[in-house]
Amino acid sequence: MSLTADDSRFVWHPFTPMQAYAAEAAPVIVAGEGFDLVDESGQRYLDGVSSLWCNVHGHRVPEIDRAISGQLGRIAHSTLLGLGSDPSIELARQLVERTPAGLDHVFYSDSGSTAVEAALKIAWQFQRQSGTGGAGRDLFVGLSGAYHGDTIGSVSLGQIDLFHSVYGPLLFDTMTLPAPVAFRHPDGFTDQEWLDRCQAEMERVVRDNHERIAAVVIEPLVQGAAGILVHPEGYLRRLRELTRELGLLLIADEVAVAFGRTGTLFACEHEEVTPDLLCLAKGLTGGYLPLAATLATGPVFEAFLGEPHQGRTFFHGHTYTGNALGCAAALASLDLFETNAVLENVGEVANRLEKGLADLVDHPHVGEIRQRGAMVGIELVADRDGNLPFPAERRTGHLVTLAARRRGVVIRPLGDVVVLMPAPAMPPVSVDRLVEVARESIEEATAG
Ligand SMILES: *Cc1c(COP(=O)(O)O)cnc(C)c1O
Repeated sequence: MSLTADDSRFVWHPFTPMQAYAAEAAPVIVAGEGFDLVDESGQRYLDGVSSLWCNVHGHRVPEIDRAISGQLGRIAHSTLLGLGSDPSIELARQLVERTPAGLDHVFYSDSGSTAVEAALKIAWQFQRQSGTGGAGRDLFVGLSGAYHGDTIGSVSLGQIDLFHSVYGPLLFDTMTLPAPVAFRHPDGFTDQEWLDRCQAEMERVVRDNHERIAAVVIEPLVQGAAGILVHPEGYLRRLRELTRELGLLLIADEVAVAFGRTGTLFACEHEEVTPDLLCLAKGLTGGYLPLAATLATGPVFEAFLGEPHQGRTFFHGHTYTGNALGCAAALASLDLFETNAVLENVGEVANRLEKGLADLVDHPHVGEIRQRGAMVGIELVADRDGNLPFPAERRTGHLVTLAARRRGVVIRPLGDVVVLMPAPAMPPVSVDRLVEVARESIEEATAG
């Protein structure tokens, strides 16, 4: 009990209404084993959201644990400012090999937000020194509902009012493309007409403004924090063709979708797209340590070359950039994709999710179920015919979390979207249990 009391007394939790949190006595996790979390009283919980979308192979994975302690026996951290470090070199080499062809240089940082922030600054500076007259390129373009992290640059691209609107005056201006999703679209369109309209609008906005655009930023295939919004096939490819035709940079924020969650190692692979800049974080270390990477193509990297006094350098970097323990964990995690055939497992995870949730589609309080690979969002509604949301103060999504917790499963919603994000390596029987508990919990939380 005292740990729980001290938790809300001393720890200010992220994205957490602290007054309500203090009253709720959330479990304090003291250990993990496989795909379970264990609290101080010994109660076990299935980790149904991969510890916020980052865990890949489970907890206390012997191979990753060994890689970290092996590295610890050599050195925990040394700076990349002016010096090399062996695990960072090997990881960069492997990332270049495994990411879509053409991404040849790795810039490290510490989180998804910093990976995006670096990409934005690289794009901006690239335009000013690439020699192609990009000095007037002062606009970034993003999608409605976008989430790219919590630093000021990434928040400027962010489009989730609840998180972002208070910071409005602090942010730089951006241009917005309508997210190509049919749920709750404006009246007067069929779903398909609306999706076509979104694609046409993408073309129009990008073409009309192309001389001012520094880069277009997208979460490929799935917009996670917006509520697991799934894009129609071909949208990413079309955006790549268009940006390439107009000579614009494309930044792919794969912080949430990479490392197996959509069924391939990187989401861009589904549409055979190579972005100019690729942002990686969450699953990079298998969910062990904070490490991020921004990959760049040759032409982007080369715009920063020159004599030091010319000032073309990328003057940006964080103290723990390329941390050796993080890189060692990431290397072990990448190996496990082959050793344990993780991508094949994701296929089975996706099947189990889809089958298990099939009869929820007709539930009176389920507005829509969205899924891509091992990423699921179940949109809860008060009334499915009118597509009416529950009143926010009911905290229906949160009630599902509490009901699931009583059944020994940890999930975390996005508003009234119940998110299921099993780790790519989760055994199918555990996925079945996750689905079963989610169904029971939705039943309980939406009743009455
Ligand atoms: C989580 C997330 C981020 C931010 O990552 P942090 O490590 O929390 O800073 C950025 N982009 C996307 C798409 C994300 O899901």
